[in-house]
Amino acid sequence: MHKSKLPNLETTIFTIMGNLSKKHNAINLSQGFPNFKSDQKLIDLVSKAMNSGYNQYAPMLGVLELREAIAKKFDDLYKTSYHPEKEIVVTAGATQAIFTIISAFIRPSDEVILFNPAYDCYEPAINLNGGKVIPMQLNYPDYKVDWDAVKNTISEKTKMIVINTPQNPSGTVFSKEDMEELERITNKTNIIVLSDEVYEHMIYDGLAHQSACLFPQLKERTFITASFGKTFHNTGWKMGYCCGPKELMKEFVKVHQFNVYCVNHPIQIALATYISEASNYKQLSSFYEQKRDLFLEAIKDSRFSFTPSKATYFQVLNYSAISNEKDVDFAKRLTTEFGVASIPLSVFNTNKLDEKVLRFCFAKKEETLLRAAEILNKL
Ligand code: PMP
Ligand code: GLN
Repeated sequence: MHKSKLPNLETTIFTIMGNLSKKHNAINLSQGFPNFKSDQKLIDLVSKAMNSGYNQYAPMLGVLELREAIAKKFDDLYKTSYHPEKEIVVTAGATQAIFTIISAFIRPSDEVILFNPAYDCYEPAINLNGGKVIPMQLNYPDYKVDWDAVKNTISEKTKMIVINTPQNPSGTVFSKEDMEELERITNKTNIIVLSDEVYEHMIYDGLAHQSACLFPQLKERTFITASFGKTFHNTGWKMGYCCGPKELMKEFVKVHQFNVYCVNHPIQIALATYISEASNYKQLSSFYEQKRDLFLEAIKDSRFSFTPSKATYFQVLNYSAISNEKDVDFAKRLTTEFGVASIPLSVFNTNKLDEKVLRFCFAKKEETLLRAAEILNKL
């Protein structure tokens, strides 16, 4: 027998709940993906690129026109610059970017601070590289960071801090003050920040996304990861990008070139044209804010309690007025007996802390959300 490198790792909750949902023909609000089509214009651009012959390997770091379009987007949105040839790489989704960043920098015994509940792909990547996860627990409903506690947790072993704003699963965001605190406590250290910003274009109630690139000293130590799948309703295409200062990107590229070399060529050609039209992502917040409002209005008389999600396409609901069951058990029973699949939050906590909270994805057609709400209201 081989000794497992990840002995305690279980199958991801997204596969477990997705399969359970299928088996019981439930309404699937578990894994985060839209159940409506992405823009026909984008699909046509991909077909056109394929028919025009862009079917062989793309340049290693990505199609230059796409990297230039990404650089222009940073300039338009955040008035900051990334060099398209040295500081931006197109990746197979944000997942590959995150794995590549962690693999390029984390050595055995390095410590990585991350905030729980945390999206599930960071921790296994850190463990595989021999790093040590230092989780900082945030709590329902505000998930506020105690920056003094973070500061006290930093040691000479701290190699990286992972942040994710807007945050999956909680639907919260870091404020300008949060980012300034992070900038202050990492200033004059060698700590690298991995800022996972895949939900940057889904933010509600007039709030503004506080990208790490807006804070000059923070930007110097930060990788930003992004996902086209999230922004353009095609999670199955697995396309994203990573950007960061050129010294850090040099190391990123060393791993990228052997872990994937390059990513889907025709889709890059299509995206280069598509993202140049800013309205294609600028309308996303109002589009999803309407869905959030529709869902919350439809469940307002239910026995779930909640704070409206500030961002992402997830809403967390607390069920402690309904059941004492463990969140994993309750999520499973909600799927098998009532027909709505969700994600229990304890799986995103390193210590499996269970605050009786489930995550529901509202990137769904109106009729799907209303059918789910009808069921949730009966509990
Ligand atoms: N980070 C977060 C916070 C996510 O929710 C996801 C899921 N989309 C990813 C990264 C991975 O993105 P991708 O599907 O582009 O790999
Ligand atoms: N990001 C998606 C979510 O949080 C899941 C993607 C995956 O299954 N790895 O639902």
